Amino acid sequence: MKAMVDNHLFTGYSVGTVNPVRVSHLQFADDTLLLGKKSWANVRTLRATLVIFETMSGLKVNFNKSLLVGVNISESWLVEAALVLSCKVGKIPFMYLGLPIGGNPRRLSFWDPVVNKIKSRLSGWNSRFLSFGGRLVLLKAVLTSLPVYALSFFKAPLDSWVWLPDPIGGFTVRGAYEVLAASANPNRDSALDLVWHHQVPLKISISAWRLIRDRLPTRANLAARGILQLDTAWCVAGCGMIETADHLFLSCPFFTVLWEQVRHWLGCAGVDSNTISHHFVQFTGLAGFGKARRSFLQLIWLLAS
Ligand SMILES: [Zn+2]
Repeated sequence: MKAMVDNHLFTGYSVGTVNPVRVSHLQFADDTLLLGKKSWANVRTLRATLVIFETMSGLKVNFNKSLLVGVNISESWLVEAALVLSCKVGKIPFMYLGLPIGGNPRRLSFWDPVVNKIKSRLSGWNSRFLSFGGRLVLLKAVLTSLPVYALSFFKAPLDSWVWLPDPIGGFTVRGAYEVLAASANPNRDSALDLVWHHQVPLKISISAWRLIRDRLPTRANLAARGILQLDTAWCVAGCGMIETADHLFLSCPFFTVLWEQVRHWLGCAGVDSNTISHHFVQFTGLAGFGKARRSFLQLIWLLAS
């Protein structure tokens, strides 16, 4: 390509007006981008260069995979030129090195390839037999690096704050009350958020997360999956009740003593809720508001459970 440009057989694309830099090609690994002005001379030279390249290197250019993309060039001219080059006409934005080129990064649709890539990775991992912690590490390591690559080239559109339940009218206290009153279990999501605490080992957060979502292998859960017989799903403490997570952690007379002792030790009074997520949210609110206090109670709950 350089020889073609030096011999004035190919005119590259010039960047800048004062001392313009002419760019005729960009190459990285097996991805090649050839840039030039719109002219039949350029099309003929391109064709010749590619044929010469094939003969000299013994490699084959895959014209079926190649695209001719025009910027402000009529479709009919592009179709004719593509016919000469025996390739297809492409549209902007097109992908180069996994990044969309020529789109508008301020539009949300520009970021669709990034979102789709994350989605496809996630669905591909479904079938893998990884431990819970392994999956979390995989998510953190791989999924965060995907958008970082795209974000290192393009500026993402700025988020604006929108009160989703009423995007037009905006936020009102009354609206927030209605949303809270309408949702079936507002506490579960807030409890799940409380699980992640920087001073708690991942293993414990994961086990608390599974507890709140009722994914622990309690006898009731094992019986539901046909691993245990229904008539053996009684509480391990022998209290005569079915061993569900709620029972084991909150209402079993043998284990609830623990919560009383924890509260006694903290010097707080309270009543135990019989749902785990409610219990967690209620417990962290015991000492009133304040970030440090909440964080401390969060820690105690995770350790006690
Ligand atoms: Zn029990």
